[in-house]
Amino acid sequence: MQLLESYITKYGKALPGDILKVDSFLNFQIDVELLDRLACDIYQHFKDKNINKILTVEASGIALSTLVAKYFNCKLVFAKKSKTLNMSDDFYSEKCFSFTHKTQNNLMVSKSFLTSEDNVLVVDDFLANGEACNSLLSIINQANAKLQGIAIAVEKAFQGAGDRFRSSGIDLYSLAIIESMNEGKIEFR
Ligand code: 5GP
Repeated sequence: MQLLESYITKYGKALPGDILKVDSFLNFQIDVELLDRLACDIYQHFKDKNINKILTVEASGIALSTLVAKYFNCKLVFAKKSKTLNMSDDFYSEKCFSFTHKTQNNLMVSKSFLTSEDNVLVVDDFLANGEACNSLLSIINQANAKLQGIAIAVEKAFQGAGDRFRSSGIDLYSLAIIESMNEGKIEFR
């Protein structure tokens, strides 16, 4: 998507460790108008798939997912990374290594919010090594729900997960695909 690529070129910063910093519009500070355009584009791609649930991971996936859920007129469920007192004991869980925190988490989704009735679109801000998406796919399987596709704002193609998902037959739709970030220069596919 041209618009997102131009934001990344203008405001993004490639940091050491294959991290793209986009905190002026996608994380920390959120450009709601831009995210609404991204959500609309995601809706156009998946609108015929009968999606009735959006699934993401806290925290940075929630903003875009909320807008996507509004277009689909459906509920958004997010996987939590730590158990809190207000959470029921009945949840699906899967371990997940966090790319940005470099820690192992347990993703948890309440069983009452994901069922075999659900046609699910997974949404996240970034796709790097695919850990977060893999864990969400495992949770979808545990719930006997149906995966309809994955929508990502920024895929870092050089980390490989995107092409692995595509070759396994998953409908992965990424709005910006970064081919390389060598010496701070961001190249798109
Ligand atoms: P993965 O699980 O695919 O390895 O990494 C995806 C998750 O890590 C996303 O949920 C995102 O929050 C975070 N992430 C991965 N790469 C980046 C990056 O370059 N920049 C930012 N801001 N977050 C990233």
